[in-house]
Amino acid sequence: MGVNRYVSEAKNWVLASHNKGKIKEISDLLARRGIVLRSAADFSLPEPDETENSFEGNALLKARTACAATGLPTLADDSGLCVAALGGQPGIHSARWAGEPRDFDRAMKKVQDGLEATGQDDRSAAFVCVLALALPDGSHRFYEGRVEGEIVWPPRGDHGFGYDPIFRPEGESRVFAEMSSVEKAGLSHRARAMSKLMSAEFGDE
Ligand code: IMP
Repeated sequence: MGVNRYVSEAKNWVLASHNKGKIKEISDLLARRGIVLRSAADFSLPEPDETENSFEGNALLKARTACAATGLPTLADDSGLCVAALGGQPGIHSARWAGEPRDFDRAMKKVQDGLEATGQDDRSAAFVCVLALALPDGSHRFYEGRVEGEIVWPPRGDHGFGYDPIFRPEGESRVFAEMSSVEKAGLSHRARAMSKLMSAEFGDE
């Protein structure tokens, strides 16, 4: 893949998200390349409904909408927890599983109840993150990060968010919610997707 001139020349990028945690994590990485990351809030961009049926579809929908509005290279991510014995659910519905207002205690219990109902021992799961990069010339690229692991019960730890208290990454004795944000950032699906992007777009090691 050749270096796209929008990637090499633009000094401002947009992250199509209002999530402050994601903005900080991603802007720290891009700052190393002299890129200033602006957020959806900086441009008062609305959050489009996630109407597609895949991580790629939803990430691209968010990235394209914000890229069209700003004329800048735009990143968007879509992520979720995929549980093998539940056929990959909650997957793209991970946020919605917690209902409105969001209640992740209820969503985690729903995962556990679903696993018990299968009557199987398979508790394997993965956190998946797809990053879409939409460029003003109409092109786009995807970068996927995954972290494999297992669902534990009962929930443990009090760091992180979402399903972190029930997800133990492979090779670790602790769940995500028992790790500091720095430790989790070293392993996470979002960090892995960003590291693929940094090496493909900028040749980072
Ligand atoms: P979105 O990508 O911002 O739409 O988030 C999708 C949902 O997936 C979140 O609301 C969480 O429920 C879940 N999720 C995504 N990444 C993580 C994570 O790192 N830890 C825990 N839950 C996560």
